[in-house]
Amino acid sequence: MIQKLVIASGNKGKLLEIQALLTPLNIEVLPQSAFNVTEAAEPHCTFIENALAKARHASLATGLPALADDSGLCLEVLDGAPGVHSAYFAGEPRSDANNNAHVLKTLKQHENRFAHYYCCLVLVRKHDDPQPLIAEGIWAGQILKKPRGEGGFGYDPLFMDNITGKSAAELTPELKNKLSHRGQALRKMLHLIEHLN
Ligand code: IMP
Repeated sequence: MIQKLVIASGNKGKLLEIQALLTPLNIEVLPQSAFNVTEAAEPHCTFIENALAKARHASLATGLPALADDSGLCLEVLDGAPGVHSAYFAGEPRSDANNNAHVLKTLKQHENRFAHYYCCLVLVRKHDDPQPLIAEGIWAGQILKKPRGEGGFGYDPLFMDNITGKSAAELTPELKNKLSHRGQALRKMLHLIEHLN
């Protein structure tokens, strides 16, 4: 059984959401920063490859099982971009404010504001685990014309959930976790972890 798990992310917003949802497990969950693990390279064009690379990197550096999240915002009108490049859509240095401004500018000339968030989670029990646990989630919505709300992180002020009509930044953390791509993927991952032999 897994007793200790490293979260292979330095993103504070992601860490809070992941830690909240892993609470029911009787597992000690630690961020990779607790071990001074540096950010892994994410050179791949698919979420799953990047998540696997991050999980392997953290597991190799710590000798512990590691859980990684690779996620992003996919705009229908851009055929799914920025996707795996969401963290730096507006270029370097990375900033949520610049990324959000870039989304608004890009969509100015388009009617189609449909979008989804996608999340791929990968858990490796050791760095060369031949059978990683994999879970994914998708959250459908639309891009608002102006930011709304103070919660969440990243593109949340611009992402309107189709069901509630609220921006992801207007949702309580609990409701965001219920609806979100990450929440869906984490619940599937919990199920996989609970059924490990
Ligand atoms: P990466 O998975 O580290 O490559 O970065 C994912 C990026 O996608 C984040 O930096 C955010 O810009 C965006 N993103 C992923 N999930 C969310 C979310 O739940 N809310 C807002 N932005 C998100």
